[in-house]
Amino acid sequence: MRFGTGDNAVDDRVRALLLGTLYNQPTSLAIGAINGVASSLIAAHVTGHGFMARAAAAITLIAVIRIGMAILCVRQLRPENARKWEIAYEVGAFSYAFMIGLVAGLSIWHEVNAHVQVMTVAVALCYGTGISARNAGRPNIVAGQLFLSLFPVIIGLVHIGSLAYLVLALAVALLLPAMMSISLNVFRTLRQSIIEAQTNAELAERMQLLAHTDVVTGIANRAGLDHKLDGMITDLPAGQKLMLLWIDLDRFKEVNDTLGHPVGDKVLKEIARRLIAQLPGHAAVARFGGDEFIIACRLSTRSDAERIARDVLDQIARPYRIDNERLTVGGSLGVALLPDDSHDTATLMQSADLALYHAKVAGGNRISFFDASMTRDLVRRREIEAELRAAIQRDELSIFFQPIVDLETGRIKTFEALVRWFHPEKGELRPDEFIPVAEETGVIITLGNWITAQAAKACAQWPEDVTVAVNLSPVQIRAPGAALGIKNALREAGLDPARLELEVTESLFLGDDENTGRFLDELCAMGVRFALDDFGTGFSSLGYINKFPFKKIKVDRSFVSGPNVGRKSEAIIRAVAEMGATLEMDIVAEGLETVEQVTAVRNAGCNLGQGYYFSRAVPDYLAMMLLARERDIDPHMRHAL
Ligand code: C2E
Ligand code: CA
Ligand code: CA
Repeated sequence: MRFGTGDNAVDDRVRALLLGTLYNQPTSLAIGAINGVASSLIAAHVTGHGFMARAAAAITLIAVIRIGMAILCVRQLRPENARKWEIAYEVGAFSYAFMIGLVAGLSIWHEVNAHVQVMTVAVALCYGTGISARNAGRPNIVAGQLFLSLFPVIIGLVHIGSLAYLVLALAVALLLPAMMSISLNVFRTLRQSIIEAQTNAELAERMQLLAHTDVVTGIANRAGLDHKLDGMITDLPAGQKLMLLWIDLDRFKEVNDTLGHPVGDKVLKEIARRLIAQLPGHAAVARFGGDEFIIACRLSTRSDAERIARDVLDQIARPYRIDNERLTVGGSLGVALLPDDSHDTATLMQSADLALYHAKVAGGNRISFFDASMTRDLVRRREIEAELRAAIQRDELSIFFQPIVDLETGRIKTFEALVRWFHPEKGELRPDEFIPVAEETGVIITLGNWITAQAAKACAQWPEDVTVAVNLSPVQIRAPGAALGIKNALREAGLDPARLELEVTESLFLGDDENTGRFLDELCAMGVRFALDDFGTGFSSLGYINKFPFKKIKVDRSFVSGPNVGRKSEAIIRAVAEMGATLEMDIVAEGLETVEQVTAVRNAGCNLGQGYYFSRAVPDYLAMMLLARERDIDPHMRHAL
């Protein structure tokens, strides 16, 4: 018989907790045992009855066994073995209750000494009522114990049959349902509060887990990593290092933009899977939103860190097959070590972040280990940021011009405007150093408009067949009113829009197409021409060339000089040149430094060339001189041209 509705539904853990309440109250168990043993021994002694002596012996034996079991159970009780311990308790409790009841029942039945009768009956009643509260955690046990301890008393009382004993028998009988109902009440309250506490604990655990988990990949998120990292640092064994590896995926935005977010998410998931599979079990792997991952890993030497970082980079670079698409992404890795580079979580993160920044600036797809000079670089960057705005007003910036030459005639067709910053203290700063800062801070918009205006003014002074090329950064183009800045520059300089060429890189097309398309269309309609710069370094999708009205493609200088030049790059230049001829586009080879390179690119089909072989970027007056020399005319006569 089971008491309490839904009792069977109570899961094993709740059962174990409730059962624990039976065993983990040693005081009441001991008092119950002492009472039972003492009273039965006294009864045996006073009455001298043989059956009383046997009952006293049985009670003593059971009491000893039960105390032993309680000690064992407290140590061994688990949700899985709760049922076994419950049965064991039941056997012990029922036999003990029955023996207590039996001693009281027999002492009445045999009308032994009145004092003994009172003592044994009182012990049985106290036992029965006490047990109802004590064992309320398992009401079925209470029912059994109550019945077994009180029923023999009732039998004894009814057997004697005096009025007082009959009334007492009735009172004892009524005690059964009364105590049972109290017991059930306590049980329900107890069970409810245990279930609630348990549910709350589970809920809190699940919330904690959720708050620490990245939804896309299922690995830890920033909070999860913070949580683990502190523990990893405090538990770091002496002589060991903690490596923090910060990963930023290269070209992941392209994947998202061209193939959609669901594919991007699958790539992220696959990366998480690869990282976990590759790294040792104790390593922590987390995703920091977007396309950044962080790994924290214990190791012994710096070369371990180098090996792990290389393996991670290899894993990321391995092609992905997602929805039957084969795609690749790269990664930039920044590594910092504790205690080498820092002593706490915050500086370790900062150092890894700085190292990552360096890996990215160096072109991505590489590993960069933190070193102290990086902090100096960062300071320099901050200074540049602070001084850039003022530089324009202070006249520290100027525009240099580099000729783009017709490879057939050797004549200058265009000058590319390249910005220079002559810093009063730092000397000449390369655009590669400050243009990215200008882009990040938005200064590029003002700066870009200023450059276009200067370039247009200069061009207005040149012969009419010479054009000017201005580099536009994607940030500048996507800014609201971007076309207006260009139009103003043209109007103020009085320059024919057909003499302005705007150089853009493929990265422009990875962002939002609508604004970019509008910008290109609007300026194209005015007659401004566009050139695709640094072709071959990015996505190199021929789709853009068809979609947008480029008049010129500039093949990146890495195809002309540098470590990767060979037959393959020659073949690429040839293919691009062929396409250029078909689509009536000019093909410029950039970075020509030697006569051999000039001959090679001309033979490959490029019609224009640019590079130190012809001239470096020069100030406007020298640009004018180059034109004049070429035309063999005194520069002061230029207005006559
Ligand atoms: P870019 O548009 O590819 O410009 C060509 C760069 O290659 C220039 O570097 C130029 O000086 C250099 N160069 C030209 N011929 C040779 C050669 O034969 N050998 C070698 N090794 N290099 C050569 P610069 O002026 O330092 O410009 C670097 C980049 O900065 C430019 O690359 C361009 O992306 C950006 N930039 C320069 N000026 C501006 C600007 O006014 N606005 C914007 N948005 N970006 C600019
Ligand atoms: Ca350019
Ligand atoms: Ca270029």
